[in-house]
Amino acid sequence: MTRRLERAQKVATRAGIDTLVITPGADLRYLTGYAALPLERLTCLILPASGDPVLVVPALEKPAAVASGIGFEIATWDETDDPFDLAARLVGTAATIGVDDHMWVSRAFALKNALPAANQVLAGPVVQELRIRKDQAEVDALREAGTAIDRVHRQVAQWLRPGRTEREVGADIARAIIDEGHETVDFVIVGSGPNGASPHHELSDRVIEAGDPVVVDIGGTMPSGYCSDSTRNYLAGGQAPAEYEKAYAVLAEAQAAQRAYARPGVTAESIDRVGRDIIAAAGYGEKFVHRTGHGIGQETHEEPYIVEGSKLVLEEGMAFSIEPGIYLEGLYGARIEDIVVCTTDGIECFNNTPRELFRVDA
Ligand code: ZN
Ligand code: ZN
Ligand code: ZN
Repeated sequence: MTRRLERAQKVATRAGIDTLVITPGADLRYLTGYAALPLERLTCLILPASGDPVLVVPALEKPAAVASGIGFEIATWDETDDPFDLAARLVGTAATIGVDDHMWVSRAFALKNALPAANQVLAGPVVQELRIRKDQAEVDALREAGTAIDRVHRQVAQWLRPGRTEREVGADIARAIIDEGHETVDFVIVGSGPNGASPHHELSDRVIEAGDPVVVDIGGTMPSGYCSDSTRNYLAGGQAPAEYEKAYAVLAEAQAAQRAYARPGVTAESIDRVGRDIIAAAGYGEKFVHRTGHGIGQETHEEPYIVEGSKLVLEEGMAFSIEPGIYLEGLYGARIEDIVVCTTDGIECFNNTPRELFRVDA
């Protein structure tokens, strides 16, 4: 059995869970390396807190599971079998089952019907406890992803021209995300002018004008399964509004202060506070409308969340974004985002393109 499965068993035991039932998704991929597609036929990992794991797969998916390197028992079911009968037999007499947070509700109900006496709880906290601390290979994969998205940001200025639409610029960026080594494009945000004030604005047919500040927030997933996510701000020629320049300087100061402060031993909420205080002191407190950041790994958003109220104490190996923003509705927005990981005594930053407003000469 692999170290990750063994560690999951220990955490499950501590949590009072007898058996974990994990369906396709990031948790299954993390625990077994099997990137099973979320199809209608049941695939699930059954991991008892003590004992051997079994992977339940439809017979026709067995070659794919074997090819992914599953080194433990695979139990198959045929087209006319009831896979929940099989799963129930393998779960046996477990009193408490930890079900995958992302399991389809239809499956959670079918599992409940097949095992009416078992108590169902969420498996998420068990797997999160593992996934929240990245090992060396994961840190290396995140660094590689960060370097790849940095190479994309270095090219954005050539496509960002007044007269082009956000969608046109976004298409060029998406192509570069793949060209620079990602397997998938996860999101491309090009928020020009007033669209920048909506943090999750994606792409529109708005024509970019000279003097528009543009928020470019992009990310993808590498062949390793690990994600990138970085935001930089561009000025499409012309002159930025004076108030924007002022707000941008405040934002850059806040983000730099947060990077300087973040380290193992501090709480997640205190990182948020360091940036929010600076932004609030300049009068933009109400305009920083989201948390400071999110963890990142095989999913773009995962634990730990860098948010007011989180007393989580950071540890070496925890990777997350630092991405404060200031949004002035109807005018423009700005956000600076880097992915960082806690080292033994500070952080390593995976995104290292210049953080100043990039002035494109059009
Ligand atoms: Zn976001
Ligand atoms: Zn982002
Ligand atoms: Zn982010």
